[in-house]
Amino acid sequence: MRLKKIRVFHLVMKLKEYFETSFGGMLDRHCIIVAFEDENGIIGWGEAPVDDGPWYSYETVETTMYVYNEFIIPLLRKNPEIEKPWEFVDRVKRVRGYRMAKAGIEFALWDLYAKQLKIPLYKAIGGVRKTVESGISIGVIGDMNRLLKLVEKYLERGYRRVKIKIAPGWDVLPVKTIRKEFGDIPLQVDANAAYTLRDLKVFEELDKYDLLMIEQPLSYEDLYEHSILQSKIKTPICLDESIKNIHDAQAGHKLGSYKIINVKPARVGGLTETIKINDFALKNNIPIWIGGMLETGIGRAFQVASATLPAVKYPNDISESNRYYEEEIVDPPWTIDKGYIRVLEKPGIGVEVLEEVLKKYVIRQKEYVFH
Ligand SMILES: [Mg+2]
Repeated sequence: MRLKKIRVFHLVMKLKEYFETSFGGMLDRHCIIVAFEDENGIIGWGEAPVDDGPWYSYETVETTMYVYNEFIIPLLRKNPEIEKPWEFVDRVKRVRGYRMAKAGIEFALWDLYAKQLKIPLYKAIGGVRKTVESGISIGVIGDMNRLLKLVEKYLERGYRRVKIKIAPGWDVLPVKTIRKEFGDIPLQVDANAAYTLRDLKVFEELDKYDLLMIEQPLSYEDLYEHSILQSKIKTPICLDESIKNIHDAQAGHKLGSYKIINVKPARVGGLTETIKINDFALKNNIPIWIGGMLETGIGRAFQVASATLPAVKYPNDISESNRYYEEEIVDPPWTIDKGYIRVLEKPGIGVEVLEEVLKKYVIRQKEYVFH
């Protein structure tokens, strides 16, 4: 495919409610949307779900605009001919890190590639299922009555498991209370790296509640200390932030740092790396599932496609469009039926991007034309 034009949009979407994790809360969701156009006018869409600050990772909307402008787009300009999306990964290897920025462009190339082949995205990446399981993730809300009401509401909506975010001071008690009120529901916790090995007692306590997994309990780049913690508790540790690529997945497996991986396709640099991790996981009997970063309907399409990969064995953090946003920028919006999201069969991401709606949330944009 020959790339003709790339448009980069910085969006600020309004969240329906304040979303709180152990690293802070937000009401506005910043992200970068990428639109690639080929010589035939076909458009491929991608999303870099970065934030306005280095909270989940060091990448932000500013760093993404910067590495695109200074390094990645110039590399593409040198040769706007790209046959397969995975060639892009090779092409930008000189740029270290900036995986979410790279993913934004790589996603758009996958969409374009699948549209050219006239096949749905999930088939282009080797996906095997027609529906994907969806779980709910509830922020650190600090109010037990509200928490119980939310759990009840989401179970009624049919979500296939409940995950609560924990932080020091809000961990054992909410888990104990949910178990008491709702019994043996599929339940897991996510610490977003808020603890250290000195908190072993908290994890020994949590170990009694038959959780599906404890996600990213320790430091966001650590593998070693997680291996120590995993040797002391029976609940599987699931790594999220610590797994940035296939190398981390392999090293962590050898060290015994985790038993499950939460793969966020954008965190690992895109679908090419997601497929590598899937293949490694499948070969080594490691269950994976797909996580999210409050993506818009565009980014969600890449989550849904990734969740059809064969190593995915747990419900995913992929919720319906109206869970976070008042208005969706794609049509149809993503919906959940009894805890499942239907995989779309149209070519590429399967949803149409509503450019008029998208434009309402754009606070700046850049356009690059290739010759
Ligand atoms: Mg997580």
